[in-house]
Amino acid sequence: MTEATATKEPIKAYEIDPKFKYELSKMHGSEKLLKCFQCGTCTSDCPVARFSDTYRPRTIIRMAQLGLRERVLKSDTLWLCAACFTCTDRCPQNVEVASVIRVLRNLAAEKGCVPQVFKEQAASVLETGYAYKIPELRVKKRETQGLPPLPKGNPESVRKSLKGVKFIEVVAKKGEQRDQ
Ligand code: SF4
Ligand code: SF4
Repeated sequence: MTEATATKEPIKAYEIDPKFKYELSKMHGSEKLLKCFQCGTCTSDCPVARFSDTYRPRTIIRMAQLGLRERVLKSDTLWLCAACFTCTDRCPQNVEVASVIRVLRNLAAEKGCVPQVFKEQAASVLETGYAYKIPELRVKKRETQGLPPLPKGNPESVRKSLKGVKFIEVVAKKGEQRDQ
């Protein structure tokens, strides 16, 4: 779902899941979700929001409070957070905003709602041990410049470390329909 759709489209009654906020309140990191009184400090101090016309952590928190489960989980905005924790440090209500976003991302990932770019990076980590596949051309260029070969990635070790945390399953999972 695009940022504009997620935040500006009128809310339909059937979109509201009244249980969502209570579910989130029981999850580690989002226990204080309901304490948010929408002061906007998180947004005003967020370094990502400063450079975006649409990314607003306060809005994400509000969407979660309102029970807009599908809208928030399918939103691109979730994936813009840089996890710097400034919002968490500054929130006057001690809402762990960055952790709430992590919880929402985990729920989105379980549904396969992960932006394609991150899925590809994750698949590359599993396959090569690197987030990006190093193009052969660049490897050759290093040689011509007399640079030492890059260290070999260790995808077996990566896969072993990630066993049991659903990462591999999430990468393989086909996502639910996203609007982008
Ligand atoms: S700073 Fe805290 S209380 Fe204020 S809008 Fe953000 S989450 Fe809500
Ligand atoms: S943790 Fe995310 S939402 Fe919070 S201030 Fe940093 S970038 Fe913004």
